[in-house]
Amino acid sequence: MIRFWEKRAKTSVVTEHPELETQIDQIRRSIKDEVKRKFAGSLAIRMVDSGSCNACEAECNALSNPYYDLERLGIRFVASPRHADVMLLSGLLTFNMYHHVMDAWAQIPEPKWSVTLGDCPLMNAPFQKSFAIKGPVAEHLPVAHHIPGCPPDPETIMQGLLEFLKKI
Ligand code: SF4
Repeated sequence: MIRFWEKRAKTSVVTEHPELETQIDQIRRSIKDEVKRKFAGSLAIRMVDSGSCNACEAECNALSNPYYDLERLGIRFVASPRHADVMLLSGLLTFNMYHHVMDAWAQIPEPKWSVTLGDCPLMNAPFQKSFAIKGPVAEHLPVAHHIPGCPPDPETIMQGLLEFLKKI
């Protein structure tokens, strides 16, 4: 116990590696600028799980914690597709979810974009040979950008969102 407190006293507050933290800071600044320029400072994302293992969602949830805090950059996750600008789709496109995905997409007002998250939407992940899978998402939706990984970590998702914002 004494050793723990000695170590604790010598260590400052640690979140990420300092180099990574600088990198994340740059991404944050760029995202904030792009959201301001292209979405008047407010970008709403509707997350849709079309058949994932939930790890991609867990990484996305981290984006709302006090460390990544996407909301202060102007990005919000919304519950209704009618309030969204972007649909962020994770998981393989299953037959069960196909109509719900299409319905959510139809309800997003124009202009709208879809971004796929993780390797599943490209059929590069586990379960791809399951009988329940309809096929690659890009065959059914116009995919504006893809964020790779299985699952992508929060930094990768932020980087991916920045690439998407620069692209449109
Ligand atoms: S990409 Fe990987 S982590 Fe994400 S839903 Fe598919 S299997 Fe899960």
